[in-house]
Amino acid sequence: MKTTLHIDWTVADICKGFIYDKNENKGLFGLNGKLIIQPEFQRNYIYGDGKKDVAVVESLLKEYPLGLIYFVKNTDGMYEVLDGQQRITSFARFVNNSWTFAVMRKGKPHYFASLDEDDKRRILDAKLTIYVCEGSPSEIQEWFETINIAGVPLVKQELRNASYHGPFVTKARVMFANTGNAKMSRWQTYVKGDPKRQAVLETALDWVSDGNIDDYMAKHRYDDNIDELQNHFETVIDWIESVFDYTGAEMCGLPWGRLYAEYHGQAYAKDEVARRVAELLDDTQVTNKRGIFEYVLGDEKNTALLSVRVFDEKTKRAAYNKQTAAAKKHRKSNCPLCAVGNDNNRERIYKLSEMDADHVTAWSKGGATDMKNCQMLCKTHNRAKGNR
Ligand SMILES: [Zn+2]
Repeated sequence: MKTTLHIDWTVADICKGFIYDKNENKGLFGLNGKLIIQPEFQRNYIYGDGKKDVAVVESLLKEYPLGLIYFVKNTDGMYEVLDGQQRITSFARFVNNSWTFAVMRKGKPHYFASLDEDDKRRILDAKLTIYVCEGSPSEIQEWFETINIAGVPLVKQELRNASYHGPFVTKARVMFANTGNAKMSRWQTYVKGDPKRQAVLETALDWVSDGNIDDYMAKHRYDDNIDELQNHFETVIDWIESVFDYTGAEMCGLPWGRLYAEYHGQAYAKDEVARRVAELLDDTQVTNKRGIFEYVLGDEKNTALLSVRVFDEKTKRAAYNKQTAAAKKHRKSNCPLCAVGNDNNRERIYKLSEMDADHVTAWSKGGATDMKNCQMLCKTHNRAKGNR
């Protein structure tokens, strides 16, 4: 790989012909059309938060260096930004799109157009330190992973987009990494994470591939459409909405792909599901509200999903003392199930640490988590009862 150092390109040079795509949240071109600011393998623009972008422009006004920037020179003579995309997009948006954001100068907010001529020149004439590299894709990729360590680390899906970049990734990003997509807010009711950091794309891929994302991306890398990915994702979302009326925060980020695969063949009465979900959300004994949805989908069989409230230490000790005193008096085991058995444990007195608390009447049958409904069982019997 060959690298050449350029210290003569200015901010004005880079900003020439700058195009920012609002739909995709990325800077596309600069350097008079010769620079691709966001190649496919790069993350979307994430500096547009009114802090990091402002800091870049304020650094230029103070004549601080912006740090090293890396370009790759392609065989067709075009440059691609390898590192520096966020900084370039920040200053180029400021310079070219007059009303994008303001910076503080001498105690007052200024857009580019309202700055003094001196300040404008300070920005436009700032010289950048740019390394241009030429080499094979694998050399560039390897180097990219090395220098990336210094910046904001790429998340796993961003690295996958880099490894499998091609027409499929490009189309998938337009659909799933685009906050301007009208469906995005609906999707975000069920899918967790920042679409710009590829969280929605990652989820869509996870669902369609049953968790084998890399394999799926490798297979579809050169596809010119994302039909299967998109159809599967929208089918899952539609299914959720056909079963549940509820759209609260507890639903966000659940493993909907797996739940769809397991349960979409079953019929549900939407009214009844809504009634049960509301009841369980209100039930103070249910501590894992996020487990409610799978619990209801599975015909309310797997109580473990709900993490029903357990007895506290004080209640357990009180029940233990009461049971043990009575057991000793009658020369029986303090585990009521051992006491009625026929083996050696019939008269065994367990230590508190050898026992667990059990709901006499199960939570699912209306049993409370209080002293009246608490009995201590030896661990073996408690486990056996829990499995029934
Ligand atoms: Zn027992």
